[in-house]
Amino acid sequence: MQGRKGGCLCGAVRYRLTSEPRSIAICHCTHCQRQSGSLFSFNLVVREADYEQSGETRVFIDKGDSGQPVHRHFCGTCGSPLFATTALMPGKVVVKAGTLDSLEGLQPQAEIYTDRAVKWLAPVAGAARFAQNV
Ligand SMILES: [Zn+2]
Repeated sequence: MQGRKGGCLCGAVRYRLTSEPRSIAICHCTHCQRQSGSLFSFNLVVREADYEQSGETRVFIDKGDSGQPVHRHFCGTCGSPLFATTALMPGKVVVKAGTLDSLEGLQPQAEIYTDRAVKWLAPVAGAARFAQNV
């Protein structure tokens, strides 16, 4: 079957997206910075029904700005962040696109939490900018 594939650094967790993402966004929030150890996450929003996984993730229950829980799934062996689910977006999975085997054809439509973005990082061409969440 077709679909984008990805997985964690060690390969214990693999996944497949059976449809193209509903939205594609870069998130500069401090939680994305901390959990990635980098400057932002590149996120794909897909329907839960379109996300298939082999292997087990561990879960850290974070809290978003809204006060709602954010379930952050990661590989318990190598620590790669793989996806998150949040009560704000029922039925959706937010996939950390950096874990895909190929990023071909994935262009960010939006940047969110730009008020937290590092100042020396240039805006992404063609992406709408939002100071906080959309
Ligand atoms: Zn792993």
